[in-house]
Amino acid sequence: MEFFNKLGKKASQTYQVTKEKAVNLSEELKLKGKISDLKNKIEDKYYEIGKIVYNEVKDGKDVSKDEVISKCDEISNFKDQISKLEMDILAIKKVKKCSKCGEELEADAAFCSKCGAEQPKVEKIEIKEEPEQTKEAEVVEINNVEEKNEENNEN
Ligand SMILES: [Zn+2]
Repeated sequence: MEFFNKLGKKASQTYQVTKEKAVNLSEELKLKGKISDLKNKIEDKYYEIGKIVYNEVKDGKDVSKDEVISKCDEISNFKDQISKLEMDILAIKKVKKCSKCGEELEADAAFCSKCGAEQPKVEKIEIKEEPEQTKEAEVVEINNVEEKNEENNEN
């Protein structure tokens, strides 16, 4: 009987994991959408800077640095936001980039498989916008741990 119980448990776990993957995928797409919005905003800023510089050069004026600098700051700000979103995507995919060579690694890898560099530990993933779905994902992880413990006890 225990065999069948285990089978049932495994099937429901698979279902939950698949569901978790679907949630993660939609979350990933959402973040990618935000990134592409930010990239468009950056392009707009480049355009605005170019226009400011062109108009002033055309009229024989000195380029007003303050205005250009403030637009450059906005671009840097957008770029920072993009790197944060890219980190969030890596966290959702449960991968990380090697701190030394940039190779994509499992989130819990202690060393890089390519260059061997020791990796800093990754904090637990939190999806801020949809807390309910995050809870569901955490439950799956807890179940997996319990099952592993059971298997160890039997051996
Ligand atoms: Zn590496």
